Amino acid sequence: MNGSLYLFPDDPTAVPDTQEILDLVRELEIIGAPLHLDATKQVYQAGPGFARQVIFAGCSPHLRFEPESEEDRDFCHVALIGPLDRPKLLTGAQTGKPRCPHCRARLDDWRARIPTAEAETHCPSCGQAVTATTLDWRQQAAMGRVLLELRNVFPGEATPGDGLSKGLAQATGMAWRHAWADMSPLP
Ligand SMILES: [Zn+2]
Repeated sequence: MNGSLYLFPDDPTAVPDTQEILDLVRELEIIGAPLHLDATKQVYQAGPGFARQVIFAGCSPHLRFEPESEEDRDFCHVALIGPLDRPKLLTGAQTGKPRCPHCRARLDDWRARIPTAEAETHCPSCGQAVTATTLDWRQQAAMGRVLLELRNVFPGEATPGDGLSKGLAQATGMAWRHAWADMSPLP
């Protein structure tokens, strides 16, 4: 399964200005030529700034920035998702059981209880209401109406550099965070 590093506003209902985001990632040379553009998803090749603005831990010999064929998506590239009508929840095959923010119990059956970013359920341990937003996912779930997706960056492999994370906050006037999940559906 392909994995992605996602950056998204702290408030998953927020709709930051996607043009401001594009201007920033262009200025930082994180994106290059467009691969696919539509109303709710814009996909770009990685630019020369990608490896500068995404901080890789140790060596990453498999890093590749060019597709090997038309269908190839196993290379680092970038998707700007949104604005979506409603917040989307992205998790992964590796996503662990999230913890209740009130009692720290793990939600064993979270996939059934939290099918969407807006779902609300009650913690089976303490009975308090929890939502996708308030659960502690340990950065293994992304959610939002606008998400910046760095494709083929795997959990623990790399984190967003200051230029990107602070730049997003400054450009959009809101707090952002990041998480890892499976790659969003293509394109
Ligand atoms: Zn609880």
